[in-house]
Amino acid sequence: MAELSQILKQATGVVAARGQGVLLYDEDDRRYLDFTAGIGVTSTGHCHPRVVAAAQEQVGKIIHAQYTTVMHRPLLDLVDRLGEVLPQQLDRMFFANSGSEAIEAALRLSRQATGRPNVIVFHGGFHGRTVAAGSMTTSGTKFRSGFSPLMAGVYVSPFPDPGHFGWPVEEATDFALKQLDYVLQTLSSPADTAAFFVEPVLGEGGYVPANQRFFAGLRERADAHGILLVVDEVQTGFGRTGKFWGGDHFGSRPDILVTAKGLASGFPLSGIAASSALMEKAWPGSQGGTYGANAVACAAALATLDVIRDEGLVQNSADRGAQLKQAMQLVADKHEQITDVRGLGLMIGNEFRDADGKPDPVTAAAVQQEAARRGLLLLTCGAWGQVVRFIPALVVTPDEIDEAAGIWSDAVTAVTG
Ligand code: PMP
Repeated sequence: MAELSQILKQATGVVAARGQGVLLYDEDDRRYLDFTAGIGVTSTGHCHPRVVAAAQEQVGKIIHAQYTTVMHRPLLDLVDRLGEVLPQQLDRMFFANSGSEAIEAALRLSRQATGRPNVIVFHGGFHGRTVAAGSMTTSGTKFRSGFSPLMAGVYVSPFPDPGHFGWPVEEATDFALKQLDYVLQTLSSPADTAAFFVEPVLGEGGYVPANQRFFAGLRERADAHGILLVVDEVQTGFGRTGKFWGGDHFGSRPDILVTAKGLASGFPLSGIAASSALMEKAWPGSQGGTYGANAVACAAALATLDVIRDEGLVQNSADRGAQLKQAMQLVADKHEQITDVRGLGLMIGNEFRDADGKPDPVTAAAVQQEAARRGLLLLTCGAWGQVVRFIPALVVTPDEIDEAAGIWSDAVTAVTG
């Protein structure tokens, strides 16, 4: 097992032993501020007492039942509770175990429902690592190189990324929508296009928010051509961006909403939501999986939803996100290597560029490592790994934000001078 432990230790060398809220302790009982939250998975913090209690209680009742044959109470209750937070028209769910699997389910449903083969994705998007989801992922060659032939029928159109083009948002959006029309005219005709797959905020692609006009443009084209709008809320859902769904910032109006990560505070659970009319176009048995809607994961998800509501975590995400962004901006103002601080709610990215204006993954990784040495765990993202992202649990306190900002400032200074 020595080799495996090397792999696991690769990133920071931290081996997690226990966690509570935003705090994580390693095997030597060293304390860390965990601003990765397992890529936003531990939405309610590590081991929230209500999530732990719900899962422990469920383990003693029913761990698993195949829900295509036998329902269980946590699943029935979870569907009801999700109905309170999902857009009204999305009244049916299908559950799986990972974001990638849910993306595959959305792809299968889109093709079945429309009878069309192609999908259009947006450059810089990340939808997973399975073959289909990986073929729809364009946030870095590392997700694509060496896996050819990738799935056919995937066309890529620009995301409205103002930073990348160096344009104002309006211009980047106009360009993205014009290019989308061009793709529909010349590459994948509407009659061949089943769906658009889009993230409200590029996650792995570097924490770049979309905007209202872009989503309005997508909806307009979807309606005009009978194309489905699939909104990937895997990273942005459950309050992460300061609203319940990331798409709520932009009036996203999805036909299919894809969710995972923050849904169950760390238990593997994902799902897609769509209208009954759409879901009924999936043939019985065409969607499924042995472990989907595991009872313990569903119980944890129910407790997660309760905690998000009872502790006002969506508002906390907005408030603490504003505090965090302001603190990050102060650091960026002092260091020209950080050229942009962006994101929504508790999903904040710091872009590193070198003196020539090129993405600088080396400095980003060095600062990430330095921050970890000083007790702050962070992740990188962006097509080149040039963005250091802050994505703490939604329970993060003002003092924890201040402490993290202090460590961040010291780590950036130590690396860049
Ligand atoms: N979509 C988005 C937006 C994601 O951020 C991710 C994971 N980073 C996925 C899909 C894939 O999820 P998973 O790793 O659970 O397969």
